[in-house]
Amino acid sequence: MHFKELNIMPSILKALESENYTEPTPIQEQAIPPILEGRDLLGCAQTGTGKTAAFAVPTLQLLSQDEAARTGPRHIRALVLTPTRELALQIYESFCAYGKHTGLRSCVIFGGVSQMHQVEKIKNGVDILVATPGRLNDLVNQRLVDLQHIKIFILDEADRMLDMGFIYDVKRIILKIPYNRQTLLFSATMPSEIANMVKSLLKEPVKIAITPISSPVDIIDQSLYFVDKENKPKLLLEILKDKSFESVLVFTRTKHGADRVVKELVANKINAQAIHGNKSQNARQLALSNFKSKITRVMVATDIAARGIDIDELSLVVNFDLPEVPETYVHRIGRTGRAGHGGTAIAFCNFGEKELLVQIEKLISRHITVVEDNPYPLLNTAPVVKSSGGRNSGGRNNAPRNTGWHNPSEMSASGKPSSRRFPDTKKAQPKRKEKVAEWGRKGSSGSNKRNPNSRSGV
Ligand code: AMP
Repeated sequence: MHFKELNIMPSILKALESENYTEPTPIQEQAIPPILEGRDLLGCAQTGTGKTAAFAVPTLQLLSQDEAARTGPRHIRALVLTPTRELALQIYESFCAYGKHTGLRSCVIFGGVSQMHQVEKIKNGVDILVATPGRLNDLVNQRLVDLQHIKIFILDEADRMLDMGFIYDVKRIILKIPYNRQTLLFSATMPSEIANMVKSLLKEPVKIAITPISSPVDIIDQSLYFVDKENKPKLLLEILKDKSFESVLVFTRTKHGADRVVKELVANKINAQAIHGNKSQNARQLALSNFKSKITRVMVATDIAARGIDIDELSLVVNFDLPEVPETYVHRIGRTGRAGHGGTAIAFCNFGEKELLVQIEKLISRHITVVEDNPYPLLNTAPVVKSSGGRNSGGRNNAPRNTGWHNPSEMSASGKPSSRRFPDTKKAQPKRKEKVAEWGRKGSSGSNKRNPNSRSGV
């Protein structure tokens, strides 16, 4: 099928051609016709399926064909709400690209930066507003944004809005937009709160469910290194010696962890930048554009900051820390397999993360291939002894954590961990039997007594 067969107007077709879009993706093919007919729509689809164009193209067309709006002042007639600043920017850029010959004006607003330029642009008149919920509520409360003329309301990544705690902001905004409107709601999953919202928001919607083009799990080359926590940076440096990994996205669990990895890489002359919530919006945008234009080879990110980032040709995703939520693993590796292309994903797993690995492998229904040729094999296999309770009793899930300093032989005379940051693997080798034996006593299965780098007996 060609876009022409979807009755798309020539000015938008021309823009799609210059984007090199020849055929619509399945969600575009199914969503564009009913949206053009003015129907409400519920789309179960993830980023990567082409859903932005699926709602942006018909929205641009409907607004262009709105005769009543040709005279008089420009009003915001379409509102897109999306959870993250990065997604908001990408959606805005898509509206600009697909609508460049329509004469319609788009604007994007999000928090973390001054509102001045955003307000100025809105005052000059815009047709389409792309916003994150917090900043939009702020500006509405200051009476700087008027939502009275909204004709098309698009709620993007509704489930993420819920995850990120924005759902009340969203509900407040909905109360301020006209009841008579067209509503398009997109969500990758349908938790009960979103299902209830769908019932109250959408009128006889067309329902479209699109599974990802191919599941990332099937097409991405996944491998796994068992490695001690303190050796992960060294292992990453070793992997990055392969220059065919031109654009690498590394996931860490924490913001500080991301900063530490970047420091280590930069000290080893690898161009790396971090992207996470502690960075200013300008720093995040700069990091992203440097990465997209390949000035930066490695971007180190936390999950929230990386959500929705759309980067083509990502050669490698590294799970430096395994995620605590198994589904996150699939989202992370999916970054390297956009639009159905294969990619490479590598995961690091230390002793304390073995339980997380079990959950991930259960979810994806397969074992991830363990790399045997590993310069930093897992040595430290002793779980931390848990205290009986209280504040320091083991974190959120109480999974055994490998601090790297559990074994008393690695303590200094003062009883504090020695200052050696990366234990020398070779020197540490003779201690392996002791540690494995200790792990065995704590109740692991027989096979792991022989090989701490095995996944069984976790
Ligand atoms: P999205 O799911 O909207 O984030 O889109 C994912 C990627 O697919 C983006 O890089 C889009 O530019 C690209 N894309 C969307 N629609 C098409 C299409 N019809 N043909 C080729 N690429 C597309």
